[in-house]
Amino acid sequence: MTTATTSSQPPTAEAVAAEVNAWLAEHWDPDLTLAAWRDLLADSGWGAPTWPAQWWGLGLPAAMADVVEREFDRAGAVGPPQGSGMGLAAPTILEHGSDDLKARLLRPIVTGAHTWCQLFSEPGSGSDLAGLTTHAEREGDEWVVNGQKVWTTSAHHARYGMLLARTDWDAPKHRGITYFAFPMDQPGVEVRPLRQMNGHASFNEVFLSDARVAAADVIGRVGDGWTVAHTTLAHERRLFSGLRGRPASWGGGRAVREAEREIGDTLEPYKWYPQRAGRPDLVADRARATGRSRDPVLRQEVARLLAMVRAAQWTAQRARAARALGRPPGPEGSISKLAASGIARAAARTHALIAGASGMLAGPDAPLDGLITEILVSVPAVSIAGGTDEIQRNIIGDRVLGLPREAGADAELPFREVPRNVATPRRG
Ligand SMILES: Cc1cc2nc3c(=O)[nH]c(=O)nc-3n(C[C@H](O)[C@H](O)[C@H](O)COP(=O)(O)OP(=O)(O)OC[C@H]3O[C@@H](n4cnc5c(N)ncnc54)[C@H](O)[C@@H]3O)c2cc1C
Repeated sequence: MTTATTSSQPPTAEAVAAEVNAWLAEHWDPDLTLAAWRDLLADSGWGAPTWPAQWWGLGLPAAMADVVEREFDRAGAVGPPQGSGMGLAAPTILEHGSDDLKARLLRPIVTGAHTWCQLFSEPGSGSDLAGLTTHAEREGDEWVVNGQKVWTTSAHHARYGMLLARTDWDAPKHRGITYFAFPMDQPGVEVRPLRQMNGHASFNEVFLSDARVAAADVIGRVGDGWTVAHTTLAHERRLFSGLRGRPASWGGGRAVREAEREIGDTLEPYKWYPQRAGRPDLVADRARATGRSRDPVLRQEVARLLAMVRAAQWTAQRARAARALGRPPGPEGSISKLAASGIARAAARTHALIAGASGMLAGPDAPLDGLITEILVSVPAVSIAGGTDEIQRNIIGDRVLGLPREAGADAELPFREVPRNVATPRRG
């Protein structure tokens, strides 16, 4: 029998939905352990249906991911885990990893056995990521890593890190970096949580002191980590917009209970993310509830904000349509990121206008039990995380508009000659 997943013709959404439904009707059992259910998911390919059939997928087009997810929700069935493993590490390994890495690392991502974090930023290298100085030296079959990472979301419970480290100090800065699948659970790794001004602690400092990673765990080629990192960064925005809580259709059962705990752990560092987006959805109701909606100046602010939100939704729809057609991530990514910063700031300003001085209170006496205050102190993060506004403008300038590139006097120098405030290691 020909099915949507084995036919040589592009499958229709109806055919894929029928096939996943039939599979779920036969296999979904909420009383399994989550691990046993995810084993079934990984082996069937329905846990990662757009991955190649050879690597725990079904080779379905990107547009079918939403179709499959909808059918899982309809059936009340638990899907694959959320987070950096499925969202960032897996696409990077699929595009650049050796077959050995794919064989070892992809399946535990689908089952949720391995969670991941992103070890990119350093105290002196955020926007200038290619200036990173965490370094790795080869010793036999291993690399020995020393340095410090910072802002590492979820490092405190990650099993692996997507690590960028300098492996050649004599190559220009973009060409001496290597990308590792780095095991976090080892003596040379110390993770220290950072407390933010909104009270949460979602990210960490990570200190690497003679930490070890196997030579076989290099993703891509040694020295080509910058190219590999671009794949991860291209998927970053989609990761955050795709995070979601427990679907309403889930019932009871062991697999569901364990998946709820997993969602709780995964989403813990992100629970203030709706507030960092400015909560424009609350603005009109707050204006009405406080009687401020009669103020013409405030009404104008609210209208301006809602128009920005609507325009950004259309841009996101264009990006989704391009993705459904199998096109690579385009300029909509940088434009959406900038729009999100503008909306968050405008929303925070409008919330502050409505709340007045009480927007500075925290706790139960504050407006919406402190939610407005949390918005005001969380919004700055949106124009920093995943590339600052200035960096997005540089990207739009040179990659989308074709303007002359920003002068990079150090781009072709051997990295050891680039002036910086961190010493070059003796052995490097
Ligand atoms: C919520 C959140 C989560 C994060 N999670 C992670 C994570 O999991 N893993 C990880 O590796 N990192 C993470 N980061 C770090 C993030 O990627 C960096 O903060 C970001 O890239 C900016 O780097 P920086 O903080 O070093 O700022 P800097 O690069 O020092 O920038 C300081 C200022 O200078 C400006 N600037 C710098 N260079 C230029 C230029 N060329 N042209 C114009 N202006 C410039 C910037 O726009 C900014 O205003 C996270 C950050 C946040 C806020």
